[in-house]
Amino acid sequence: MHKRAIILALWLTVLSTAVLAQAPIPDWCRALPRPEYKSLERVPVSDAWFEVYKPAPAVFAIYEPHQAEETIGYLIVGQKRALLFDTGMGISDVKKITAELTKLPIIVLNSHTHDDHVGGNWEFDTIYGMDTDFTRKNAQGSREDAQAEVTPDQICGTLPKGFDAKAYVTRPWKIAAYMHDGDRFDLGGRTIEVIATPGHTPDAISLIDRANGLLFTGDTYYPAPIWLYRPETDLDAYGASIRRLAALAPQVKLVLGAHNIPVAQPSVLAQLVTAFDAVRARRVAATPESPGKVLYKVGDISFLMSAPAAH
Ligand SMILES: [Zn+2]
Repeated sequence: MHKRAIILALWLTVLSTAVLAQAPIPDWCRALPRPEYKSLERVPVSDAWFEVYKPAPAVFAIYEPHQAEETIGYLIVGQKRALLFDTGMGISDVKKITAELTKLPIIVLNSHTHDDHVGGNWEFDTIYGMDTDFTRKNAQGSREDAQAEVTPDQICGTLPKGFDAKAYVTRPWKIAAYMHDGDRFDLGGRTIEVIATPGHTPDAISLIDRANGLLFTGDTYYPAPIWLYRPETDLDAYGASIRRLAALAPQVKLVLGAHNIPVAQPSVLAQLVTAFDAVRARRVAATPESPGKVLYKVGDISFLMSAPAAH
């Protein structure tokens, strides 16, 4: 064997050993890329941490497929300004991406203030918040939830160059003004209306673009197990909120949720109500998921909830 070939062979052995020594590929990561993305128009951007798609005219879905939340934020563009519905994980620079997609001024609204939806808030000047104590507390930033997002089992592929996992936190942001149920944002030729949909969190909202039949549901609905187990979750409020969304279905052409896949049919809204009612009526068997948590599955809809107390 040529000496250079021997060195190369040795080097390859070292490399493959290093790769094998890493954490195994997490299960959720094996499901990627999700097939639904094949039918969506992809928009090239300069940062490989993000994938951007165009599910509707002048709507960009900003997807983070390399982290287990598979968070999706939406940039909704009008003629005069744009609205960014969630800023993602804050693992890479979302403002750089939005600047590549529009030159218009951007206002930020969050679907709710869990860490995976507000990570890039600090980069923007105009962030509206719901008038809740939960929102105000989260706007102070936090470390614990952010740290849990970057353990090896939560990452698929590589973190952005220069990202320091140990220093990763949700950075604080300033609330420019409070918004309320029914508020309308005129983006110029496009009006977006806020629908308060508390339940997943007290500050959860959905957005409707009535003229274009678009309903952005945040974490109130997305096509994956919906998390309803945290202490800030209110199941009665959630039930009322999803009924409100289901009543809007006749006006809706496309439902855009905040995780995994950006497109769903309006018929999921009625299915969501039926599934949730069945769970609450104890007609659905619980599958243990992890300590203290169970999964309820009804057709294509599933909920991750606290394990019922033993009697
Ligand atoms: Zn959430």
